[in-house]
Amino acid sequence: MDQGEINKMNRSFKTIIRTMAMSAVAAAAIGSFAPMPANAAEEINLYSYRQPFLIDPLVKSFTEETGIKVNIVFAKKGMLEKIKAAGANNPADAVLTVDIGRLYALKQAGVLASVKSDVLNANIPAHLRDPDGLWFGLTQRSRIALVSKERVKEGELATYEDLADPKFRGRICMRSGKHAYNVALIASMIAHHGKEKTKAWLEGVKANQARKPQGNDRAQAKAVFEGQCDVAISNTYYMGKMQTNDEKPEQKKWADAVRVTFLNQGNSDRGAHMNVSGAGVLKGAKHREAAIKFIEWLTKEEAQKIYAEVNFEYPANPKVEASALVKSWGDFKSDTLGMEDIAKNRGAASKLVDEVKFDEGPTS
Ligand code: FE
Repeated sequence: MDQGEINKMNRSFKTIIRTMAMSAVAAAAIGSFAPMPANAAEEINLYSYRQPFLIDPLVKSFTEETGIKVNIVFAKKGMLEKIKAAGANNPADAVLTVDIGRLYALKQAGVLASVKSDVLNANIPAHLRDPDGLWFGLTQRSRIALVSKERVKEGELATYEDLADPKFRGRICMRSGKHAYNVALIASMIAHHGKEKTKAWLEGVKANQARKPQGNDRAQAKAVFEGQCDVAISNTYYMGKMQTNDEKPEQKKWADAVRVTFLNQGNSDRGAHMNVSGAGVLKGAKHREAAIKFIEWLTKEEAQKIYAEVNFEYPANPKVEASALVKSWGDFKSDTLGMEDIAKNRGAASKLVDEVKFDEGPTS
């Protein structure tokens, strides 16, 4: 799904989004997502930062199975502000989003309601959900190195710590250090090594950059393909998106130029850094029980398989396997550091990025 299609989808929800910005009184009078159902339990209103190509098949299966209709507003930016502004008149029941940073921001804003569910506790490992039941991880992605097949030897880059090794001078490409994915990675370094050591590491990584941070994760793999650098830092699922991209077949060449490298895999090492996509039920949800049912359903085998097949993510439910393509990248060990511990160090991580002027590139 490209941006144009997403924009088209979003346009049809324009009026709904506009409702969010209205005064509480007006919002209450006008209503919300759709005409209120006769039986409130048969419908839920969902905010999704996740894209239609992924959410649509999930929602279709859920509705077929349960008869519960799901109204969705797709969001890009600013939804947290809208949820906060709407307060008690919030028309949404639940939020689906990516990155621990966004989940934690919702928690910190006090808009999430605690959920106690035996199904969720059984399906989702403790380190992938909020200790108070405010949010639940649904899928996992690893932040990996995509290294040049030609210019990086097997084992040459083995750990995140290695990214600061002078042998990689001028060889690393990364998107902005302020992007949520990198902030989470740096936060995990702080959780494991402390602030001082992480700062020194980040200075080393900056010195090893091939160019000023720019572009998205796929742009880094492209730069490896073009010979601008030897190591790209990326989330796992982008590898699958490039490998299977029939619309933009040039991306298959980018994927072909790189080798998936999971870091910190040594016997006594901690494993590869992980992040999550997840969901939470909003305070004041008018269809709370149905919203919980939906999130529970998202952790079950059928939904977890859709996530795995459609978006190349790793199921958060350990009983469900990754897709064949994803498995072809190899088995690996995950860092089981609690998402909460990553979230707590995000502020410090973001500060370090500024302090070392990471985004100004290697020479500043
Ligand atoms: Fe992403």
